Amino acid sequence: MTASELQGRVALVTGSTDGIGLAIARALAGRGCAVMLNGFGEADAIAALCADIAAAHGVKVAHAAADLRLEADAAELVPRTLGRFGRLDIVVNNAGTQHKGPVEQHPPARWREVMALNLDAAFHTIRGALPGMRERDWGRIVNIASVYGLAGGVDRSSYVASKHGLVGLTKAVALETASTGITCNAVCPGDVATRIFHRNAKLLAEREQISRAEAGQRIAAGNMPSGRVVAPEQVAALAVFLCTTAADEIRGAALPVDGAWLAR
Ligand code: NAD
Repeated sequence: MTASELQGRVALVTGSTDGIGLAIARALAGRGCAVMLNGFGEADAIAALCADIAAAHGVKVAHAAADLRLEADAAELVPRTLGRFGRLDIVVNNAGTQHKGPVEQHPPARWREVMALNLDAAFHTIRGALPGMRERDWGRIVNIASVYGLAGGVDRSSYVASKHGLVGLTKAVALETASTGITCNAVCPGDVATRIFHRNAKLLAEREQISRAEAGQRIAAGNMPSGRVVAPEQVAALAVFLCTTAADEIRGAALPVDGAWLAR
């Protein structure tokens, strides 16, 4: 991959004020992309984040405060990005949420919310972005799914269903764009060291009277034969690779970054 092949591209990364999305936004900015951030946070902190990424990489960075559980916000996000940057080359559908508990106790309203954020929002951004991508015959759509997009899991029915749906949407869009310069792929991480992982490690460390590092290792080893948690930057590196020329013919794939979770 050449250092500058993504220079001047415009990327939208949903759910990018924290976690994996932020790592992806930083990585794309590092390749010279202008970036539209999206996600929650204090206005001052978000402004500082935009300024920080822009200064670090010499690119334009803006933020759209869309709540992607809401259809109107999700449908407006691409038009807002086009309004700000004039074009849109890369869409990373990353924002996601989950609900834990048995299916028979899953509140229906919460089910709708998980589906809306994890699946419907990606439909809206893809639908909005494709016409411009088709005009220029170039585009990259990267959907951040999960190992739970490829395998089941207990007490997370809406998460599993929405992420399987996202993998299905990825394949459908990849087929519809198969003869064009647009690709659509999914990335399927295992346990990633984001805020929630660190919070769980802290709780386990306190409960078991062990170090946070050991607690983190125990959580990771519970799911991943590698025994190591995945770094957000490792997920971001794959997302960026999927945006390069080298990945031109990777289409409709669902690629695990999971420490061999799914290899068993
Ligand atoms: P996170 O909770 O650390 O960050 C989520 C981001 O999304 C934040 O910027 C937040 O403000 C934003 N967000 C939350 N609700 C939103 C909404 N309604 N509208 C717009 N933005 C919203 O999340 P993460 O752990 O980095 O996960 C990112 C993605 O990766 C999710 O789709 C998740 O399912 C997936 N994933 C995470 C892990 C993991 O271990 N963390 C593993 C596999 C897959």
